[in-house]
Amino acid sequence: MEKKRIYLSSPTMHGKEQEFVKEAFDTNWVAPLGPNVDALEKEMEAFTGAGHAAALSAGTAAIHLALRLLGVKEGDVVFVSSLTFCATCNPIVYEKAAPVFIDSERDTWNMCPRALERAYEKYPHPKAVILVHLYGTPARLDEIMNICREHGTPLIEDAAESLGSTYRGRHTGTFGSFGIYSFNGNKIITTSGGGMLVSPEEEQIRRARFLATQARDPARHYQHSQIGFNYRMSNVTAGIGRGQLMFLEEHKRLKKEIYRTYSEAFEEIPEITMNPLNPEGDANCWLSCMTLEEGCRVTPDRIMDALEKENAESRPIWKPLHLQPVFAECDFVTAEGGPESVSEDIFRRGLCLPSDIKNTEEDMELIIGTVKSLFE
Ligand SMILES: *Cc1c(COP(=O)(O)O)cnc(C)c1O
Repeated sequence: MEKKRIYLSSPTMHGKEQEFVKEAFDTNWVAPLGPNVDALEKEMEAFTGAGHAAALSAGTAAIHLALRLLGVKEGDVVFVSSLTFCATCNPIVYEKAAPVFIDSERDTWNMCPRALERAYEKYPHPKAVILVHLYGTPARLDEIMNICREHGTPLIEDAAESLGSTYRGRHTGTFGSFGIYSFNGNKIITTSGGGMLVSPEEEQIRRARFLATQARDPARHYQHSQIGFNYRMSNVTAGIGRGQLMFLEEHKRLKKEIYRTYSEAFEEIPEITMNPLNPEGDANCWLSCMTLEEGCRVTPDRIMDALEKENAESRPIWKPLHLQPVFAECDFVTAEGGPESVSEDIFRRGLCLPSDIKNTEEDMELIIGTVKSLFE
Protein backbone atom coordinates (compact mmCIF):
# COMPACT_ATOMS: atom_id res chain seq x y z
CA MET A 1 0.00 0.00 0.00
CA GLU A 2 1.14 3.53 -0.79
CA LYS A 3 2.42 5.30 2.34
CA LYS A 4 0.45 8.32 3.46
CA ARG A 5 1.94 11.63 2.30
CA ILE A 6 3.31 13.78 5.11
CA TYR A 7 3.40 17.41 4.02
CA LEU A 8 5.76 20.29 4.64
CA SER A 9 2.88 22.74 5.14
CA SER A 10 -0.44 22.22 3.39
CA PRO A 11 -3.78 24.03 3.74
CA THR A 12 -5.89 23.19 6.80
CA MET A 13 -9.55 24.07 6.34
CA HIS A 14 -12.17 24.06 9.07
CA GLY A 15 -15.55 24.48 7.40
CA LYS A 16 -16.05 28.09 8.50
CA GLU A 17 -14.39 29.16 5.24
CA GLN A 18 -17.15 27.55 3.18
CA GLU A 19 -19.83 29.45 5.08
CA PHE A 20 -18.31 32.79 4.04
CA VAL A 21 -17.82 31.53 0.47
CA LYS A 22 -21.42 30.30 0.35
CA GLU A 23 -22.61 33.70 1.50
CA ALA A 24 -20.65 35.30 -1.33
CA PHE A 25 -22.35 32.98 -3.83
CA ASP A 26 -25.80 33.38 -2.30
CA THR A 27 -25.58 37.16 -2.54
CA ASN A 28 -23.83 36.99 -5.95
CA TRP A 29 -20.83 38.92 -4.60
CA VAL A 30 -18.49 37.04 -6.94
CA ALA A 31 -16.28 40.01 -7.74
CA PRO A 32 -12.93 41.59 -6.91
CA LEU A 33 -14.65 43.61 -4.20
CA GLY A 34 -17.47 43.04 -1.76
CA PRO A 35 -18.34 42.57 1.90
CA ASN A 36 -15.86 39.74 2.55
CA VAL A 37 -12.99 41.86 1.20
CA ASP A 38 -13.94 44.80 3.41
CA ALA A 39 -14.47 42.53 6.42
CA LEU A 40 -11.18 40.65 5.96
CA GLU A 41 -9.33 43.98 5.88
CA LYS A 42 -11.03 45.09 9.09
CA GLU A 43 -10.39 41.72 10.74
CA MET A 44 -6.72 41.74 9.76
CA GLU A 45 -6.37 45.29 11.11
CA ALA A 46 -7.93 44.16 14.38
CA PHE A 47 -5.86 40.99 14.61
CA THR A 48 -2.45 42.47 13.79
CA GLY A 49 -3.00 45.95 15.15
CA ALA A 50 -1.98 47.36 11.77
CA GLY A 51 -3.51 50.75 11.14
CA HIS A 52 -4.89 50.06 7.67
CA ALA A 53 -5.01 47.07 5.34
CA ALA A 54 -5.67 46.38 1.65
CA ALA A 55 -6.56 42.86 0.50
CA LEU A 56 -4.69 41.90 -2.67
CA SER A 57 -4.24 39.02 -5.09
CA ALA A 58 -0.84 38.00 -3.65
CA GLY A 59 1.86 38.90 -1.18
CA THR A 60 4.10 39.65 -4.15
CA ALA A 61 1.56 42.22 -5.38
CA ALA A 62 1.64 43.81 -1.90
CA ILE A 63 5.43 44.20 -2.06
CA HIS A 64 5.14 45.66 -5.55
CA LEU A 65 2.58 48.25 -4.45
CA ALA A 66 4.64 49.15 -1.37
CA LEU A 67 7.62 49.92 -3.62
CA ARG A 68 5.41 51.94 -5.99
CA LEU A 69 3.95 53.93 -3.11
CA LEU A 70 7.44 54.72 -1.83
CA GLY A 71 8.33 56.04 -5.27
CA VAL A 72 10.97 53.41 -6.06
CA LYS A 73 11.98 53.84 -9.68
CA GLU A 74 14.57 52.94 -12.27
CA GLY A 75 18.10 52.96 -10.93
CA ASP A 76 17.16 53.30 -7.25
CA VAL A 77 18.92 51.04 -4.75
CA VAL A 78 16.80 48.85 -2.45
CA PHE A 79 18.39 46.87 0.39
CA VAL A 80 16.84 43.42 0.77
CA SER A 81 17.47 40.24 2.79
CA SER A 82 19.37 37.66 0.75
CA LEU A 83 18.10 34.58 2.56
CA THR A 84 14.50 34.50 1.30
CA PHE A 85 12.14 33.46 -1.47
CA CYS A 86 12.55 35.28 -4.81
CA ALA A 87 9.13 36.96 -4.37
CA THR A 88 10.65 39.29 -1.77
CA CYS A 89 12.96 40.75 -4.40
CA ASN A 90 11.26 40.36 -7.78
CA PRO A 91 9.08 43.48 -7.45
CA ILE A 92 12.27 45.57 -7.05
CA VAL A 93 13.22 44.39 -10.52
CA TYR A 94 9.68 45.01 -11.87
CA GLU A 95 10.41 48.67 -11.12
CA LYS A 96 13.90 48.45 -12.71
CA ALA A 97 15.48 49.34 -9.36
CA ALA A 98 18.66 47.65 -8.13
CA PRO A 99 18.48 45.12 -5.30
CA VAL A 100 21.47 45.08 -2.94
CA PHE A 101 21.42 41.89 -0.92
CA ILE A 102 22.15 41.94 2.80
CA ASP A 103 23.54 38.90 4.60
CA SER A 104 21.90 37.13 7.56
CA GLU A 105 23.02 37.00 11.16
CA ARG A 106 23.09 33.72 13.08
CA ASP A 107 20.78 34.64 15.96
CA THR A 108 17.58 34.92 13.87
CA TRP A 109 18.77 34.00 10.33
CA ASN A 110 17.36 37.40 9.28
CA MET A 111 18.97 40.60 8.01
CA CYS A 112 22.21 41.32 9.87
CA PRO A 113 22.18 44.87 11.35
CA ARG A 114 25.97 45.11 11.01
CA ALA A 115 25.80 44.13 7.32
CA LEU A 116 23.01 46.66 6.82
CA GLU A 117 25.20 49.40 8.32
CA ARG A 118 28.02 48.41 6.01
CA ALA A 119 25.70 48.57 3.00
CA TYR A 120 25.08 52.27 3.82
CA GLU A 121 28.81 52.94 3.60
CA LYS A 122 28.71 51.88 -0.03
CA TYR A 123 25.17 53.03 -0.92
CA PRO A 124 24.26 56.00 1.31
CA HIS A 125 20.82 56.63 -0.25
CA PRO A 126 18.75 53.48 -0.70
CA LYS A 127 15.09 54.14 -1.50
CA ALA A 128 13.81 51.37 0.81
CA VAL A 129 14.80 48.41 2.97
CA ILE A 130 12.88 45.12 2.63
CA LEU A 131 13.26 43.01 5.75
CA VAL A 132 12.05 39.39 5.91
CA HIS A 133 10.94 37.52 9.04
CA LEU A 134 12.09 34.15 7.76
CA TYR A 135 10.22 30.97 8.63
CA GLY A 136 8.20 33.02 11.13
CA THR A 137 11.11 34.17 13.31
CA PRO A 138 11.00 37.94 13.93
CA ALA A 139 14.10 39.83 12.78
CA ARG A 140 16.09 42.13 15.09
CA LEU A 141 13.59 44.89 14.56
CA ASP A 142 14.95 47.34 17.13
CA GLU A 143 18.39 47.44 15.58
CA ILE A 144 17.19 47.39 11.98
CA MET A 145 14.63 50.13 12.63
CA ASN A 146 17.20 52.32 14.38
CA ILE A 147 19.50 52.09 11.38
CA CYS A 148 16.67 52.82 8.94
CA ARG A 149 15.51 55.77 11.03
CA GLU A 150 19.01 57.18 11.30
CA HIS A 151 19.28 57.20 7.51
CA GLY A 152 15.65 58.18 6.88
CA THR A 153 14.96 55.05 4.83
CA PRO A 154 11.44 53.60 4.81
CA LEU A 155 11.18 49.97 5.94
CA ILE A 156 9.01 47.33 4.25
CA GLU A 157 8.46 44.21 6.33
CA ASP A 158 7.95 41.03 4.35
CA ALA A 159 5.90 39.17 6.95
CA ALA A 160 4.61 36.64 4.39
CA GLU A 161 5.87 33.79 6.56
CA SER A 162 5.39 35.40 9.96
CA LEU A 163 1.69 36.25 10.18
CA GLY A 164 0.85 35.85 13.88
CA SER A 165 4.45 36.28 15.08
CA THR A 166 5.10 39.10 17.51
CA TYR A 167 8.16 41.11 18.51
CA ARG A 168 8.06 42.73 21.96
CA GLY A 169 4.34 42.04 21.98
CA ARG A 170 3.58 43.68 18.65
CA HIS A 171 2.81 41.89 15.39
CA THR A 172 5.48 41.58 12.74
CA GLY A 173 4.41 43.55 9.69
CA THR A 174 3.23 46.52 11.78
CA PHE A 175 6.61 48.14 12.49
CA GLY A 176 7.57 49.48 9.08
CA SER A 177 6.10 52.03 6.69
CA PHE A 178 4.53 48.98 5.06
CA GLY A 179 4.04 45.34 6.00
CA ILE A 180 2.94 42.54 3.74
CA TYR A 181 1.31 39.17 4.44
CA SER A 182 0.71 36.21 2.14
CA PHE A 183 -2.19 33.77 2.04
CA ASN A 184 -0.53 31.41 -0.42
CA GLY A 185 -1.36 27.71 -0.11
CA ASN A 186 1.65 26.81 2.02
CA LYS A 187 1.44 29.71 4.51
CA ILE A 188 0.15 29.49 8.09
CA ILE A 189 -3.33 30.44 6.88
CA THR A 190 -4.35 30.45 3.25
CA THR A 191 -6.96 31.70 0.81
CA SER A 192 -5.46 29.44 -1.91
CA GLY A 193 -3.69 32.59 -3.08
CA GLY A 194 -3.79 36.14 -1.83
CA GLY A 195 -2.03 38.79 0.18
CA MET A 196 -2.43 41.87 2.33
CA LEU A 197 -0.67 45.21 2.41
CA VAL A 198 -0.75 47.06 5.73
CA SER A 199 0.43 50.50 6.77
CA PRO A 200 -0.03 52.93 9.64
CA GLU A 201 -0.93 55.56 7.03
CA GLU A 202 -4.51 55.56 5.81
CA GLU A 203 -3.67 57.65 2.75
CA GLN A 204 -1.09 55.10 1.57
CA ILE A 205 -3.60 52.25 1.81
CA ARG A 206 -6.19 54.33 -0.01
CA ARG A 207 -3.65 54.85 -2.81
CA ALA A 208 -2.83 51.12 -2.74
CA ARG A 209 -6.49 50.24 -3.36
CA PHE A 210 -6.57 52.78 -6.19
CA LEU A 211 -3.45 51.35 -7.88
CA ALA A 212 -4.72 47.79 -7.34
CA THR A 213 -7.91 48.52 -9.32
CA GLN A 214 -6.32 49.84 -12.53
CA ALA A 215 -5.86 53.37 -11.15
CA ARG A 216 -9.29 54.50 -12.23
CA ASP A 217 -9.88 58.18 -11.61
CA PRO A 218 -13.14 59.25 -9.94
CA ALA A 219 -15.18 59.97 -13.06
CA ARG A 220 -18.26 58.38 -14.58
CA HIS A 221 -16.41 57.43 -17.74
CA TYR A 222 -13.22 55.35 -17.63
CA GLN A 223 -10.45 57.83 -17.03
CA HIS A 224 -6.85 57.12 -16.09
CA SER A 225 -3.99 59.49 -15.32
CA GLN A 226 -1.68 56.74 -14.02
CA ILE A 227 -0.82 53.14 -14.84
CA GLY A 228 -2.40 50.76 -12.38
CA PHE A 229 -2.64 47.04 -11.74
CA ASN A 230 -5.29 44.38 -11.38
CA TYR A 231 -4.18 43.33 -7.89
CA ARG A 232 -7.36 43.26 -5.80
CA MET A 233 -8.48 40.18 -3.86
CA SER A 234 -11.76 38.59 -4.91
CA ASN A 235 -14.73 38.48 -2.56
CA VAL A 236 -14.80 34.66 -2.78
CA THR A 237 -11.13 34.39 -1.83
CA ALA A 238 -11.61 36.85 1.03
CA GLY A 239 -14.34 34.57 2.37
CA ILE A 240 -11.82 31.76 2.72
CA GLY A 241 -9.51 34.21 4.49
CA ARG A 242 -12.17 35.25 7.02
CA GLY A 243 -12.76 31.63 7.94
CA GLN A 244 -9.03 30.91 8.18
CA LEU A 245 -8.24 33.96 10.30
CA MET A 246 -10.52 32.60 13.02
CA PHE A 247 -8.09 29.69 13.35
CA LEU A 248 -4.78 31.52 13.05
CA GLU A 249 -4.06 31.35 16.79
CA GLU A 250 -4.80 27.64 16.78
CA HIS A 251 -2.51 27.09 13.76
CA LYS A 252 0.23 29.00 15.54
CA ARG A 253 -0.18 26.91 18.70
CA LEU A 254 0.09 23.68 16.67
CA LYS A 255 3.11 24.95 14.69
CA LYS A 256 4.85 25.83 17.95
CA GLU A 257 4.09 22.38 19.28
CA ILE A 258 5.69 20.81 16.19
CA TYR A 259 8.79 22.93 16.75
CA ARG A 260 8.93 21.94 20.42
CA THR A 261 8.55 18.24 19.58
CA TYR A 262 11.44 18.37 17.11
CA SER A 263 13.60 20.44 19.47
CA GLU A 264 13.15 17.99 22.32
CA ALA A 265 13.64 14.93 20.12
CA PHE A 266 16.85 16.20 18.54
CA GLU A 267 18.36 17.58 21.73
CA GLU A 268 20.32 14.34 22.18
CA ILE A 269 21.96 14.68 18.75
CA PRO A 270 24.71 17.28 19.10
CA GLU A 271 25.16 17.60 15.33
CA ILE A 272 21.62 19.01 14.99
CA THR A 273 20.64 22.61 15.78
CA MET A 274 17.07 23.84 15.30
CA ASN A 275 16.40 27.16 13.56
CA PRO A 276 16.60 30.09 16.01
CA LEU A 277 13.62 31.84 17.57
CA ASN A 278 14.09 35.46 18.58
CA PRO A 279 13.94 35.68 22.41
CA GLU A 280 12.44 39.20 22.03
CA GLY A 281 9.52 37.74 20.16
CA ASP A 282 6.98 34.99 19.88
CA ALA A 283 7.44 33.18 16.55
CA ASN A 284 4.60 31.46 14.70
CA CYS A 285 7.06 28.62 13.88
CA TRP A 286 5.69 28.43 10.32
CA LEU A 287 8.38 25.93 9.31
CA SER A 288 10.61 23.97 11.67
CA CYS A 289 14.13 23.87 10.25
CA MET A 290 17.47 22.45 11.30
CA THR A 291 21.13 22.85 10.50
CA LEU A 292 23.76 20.13 10.71
CA GLU A 293 27.17 20.68 12.18
CA GLU A 294 29.93 21.60 9.72
CA GLY A 295 31.56 18.43 8.40
CA CYS A 296 28.75 16.19 9.68
CA ARG A 297 28.61 12.91 7.74
CA VAL A 298 24.80 13.21 7.67
CA THR A 299 24.05 15.88 5.08
CA PRO A 300 20.76 17.73 4.44
CA ASP A 301 20.47 15.75 1.18
CA ARG A 302 20.69 12.45 3.03
CA ILE A 303 17.97 13.52 5.45
CA MET A 304 15.71 14.76 2.65
CA ASP A 305 16.24 11.49 0.72
CA ALA A 306 15.49 9.36 3.80
CA LEU A 307 12.31 11.36 4.52
CA GLU A 308 11.20 11.10 0.89
CA LYS A 309 11.47 7.29 1.15
CA GLU A 310 8.89 7.56 3.94
CA ASN A 311 6.78 9.78 1.67
CA ALA A 312 7.46 12.77 3.94
CA GLU A 313 8.04 16.17 2.33
CA SER A 314 11.04 18.24 3.38
CA ARG A 315 12.77 21.11 1.59
CA PRO A 316 16.13 22.81 1.37
CA ILE A 317 16.50 26.21 3.02
CA TRP A 318 15.79 29.05 0.56
CA LYS A 319 18.83 29.43 -1.66
CA PRO A 320 20.18 32.93 -0.94
CA LEU A 321 19.21 35.37 -3.66
CA HIS A 322 22.78 36.63 -4.11
CA LEU A 323 23.62 33.10 -5.32
CA GLN A 324 20.79 32.98 -7.86
CA PRO A 325 21.89 33.15 -11.51
CA VAL A 326 19.22 35.77 -12.26
CA PHE A 327 20.68 38.12 -9.61
CA ALA A 328 24.34 37.43 -10.41
CA GLU A 329 24.96 41.09 -11.28
CA CYS A 330 23.59 42.40 -7.97
CA ASP A 331 25.77 43.42 -5.05
CA PHE A 332 25.84 41.51 -1.77
CA VAL A 333 27.01 42.87 1.59
CA THR A 334 28.22 40.86 4.60
CA ALA A 335 28.96 42.00 8.15
CA GLU A 336 32.73 41.72 7.82
CA GLY A 337 33.02 42.49 4.15
CA GLY A 338 34.61 39.14 3.38
CA PRO A 339 33.31 36.51 0.99
CA GLU A 340 32.07 34.13 3.73
CA SER A 341 28.36 34.53 4.09
CA VAL A 342 26.12 33.42 6.93
CA SER A 343 23.14 32.96 4.59
CA GLU A 344 25.10 30.62 2.33
CA ASP A 345 26.31 28.64 5.33
CA ILE A 346 22.73 28.20 6.61
CA PHE A 347 21.64 27.18 3.11
CA ARG A 348 24.41 24.58 2.79
CA ARG A 349 23.89 23.01 6.22
CA GLY A 350 20.14 23.37 6.64
CA LEU A 351 16.76 21.95 5.68
CA CYS A 352 13.06 22.48 6.43
CA LEU A 353 11.25 19.65 8.19
CA PRO A 354 7.65 18.55 7.63
CA SER A 355 5.68 21.17 9.59
CA ASP A 356 2.10 20.44 8.63
CA ILE A 357 -0.31 20.98 11.51
CA LYS A 358 -2.25 17.90 10.45
CA ASN A 359 0.77 15.70 11.24
CA THR A 360 -0.23 13.08 13.79
CA GLU A 361 1.88 11.88 16.70
CA GLU A 362 2.71 8.80 14.59
CA ASP A 363 3.80 11.01 11.67
CA MET A 364 6.09 12.96 13.99
CA GLU A 365 7.54 9.73 15.42
CA LEU A 366 8.18 8.43 11.91
CA ILE A 367 9.96 11.65 10.86
CA ILE A 368 12.01 11.84 14.04
CA GLY A 369 12.87 8.13 13.94
CA THR A 370 13.94 8.40 10.31
CA VAL A 371 16.25 11.34 11.03
CA LYS A 372 17.68 9.77 14.17
CA SER A 373 18.40 6.45 12.44
CA LEU A 374 20.88 8.24 10.15
CA PHE A 375 23.01 9.15 13.16
CA GLU A 376 23.26 5.59 14.56
C1 LIG B 1 5.27 33.34 0.12
C2 LIG B 1 6.23 34.44 0.21
C3 LIG B 1 6.06 35.62 -0.51
C4 LIG B 1 5.06 35.80 -1.62
O1 LIG B 1 3.77 35.67 -1.32
P1 LIG B 1 2.72 35.29 -2.47
O2 LIG B 1 1.41 35.48 -1.80
O3 LIG B 1 2.99 33.86 -2.83
O4 LIG B 1 2.92 36.21 -3.61
C5 LIG B 1 6.93 36.67 -0.30
N1 LIG B 1 7.94 36.55 0.57
C6 LIG B 1 8.16 35.44 1.27
C7 LIG B 1 9.29 35.41 2.24
C8 LIG B 1 7.33 34.33 1.10
O5 LIG B 1 7.59 33.21 1.77
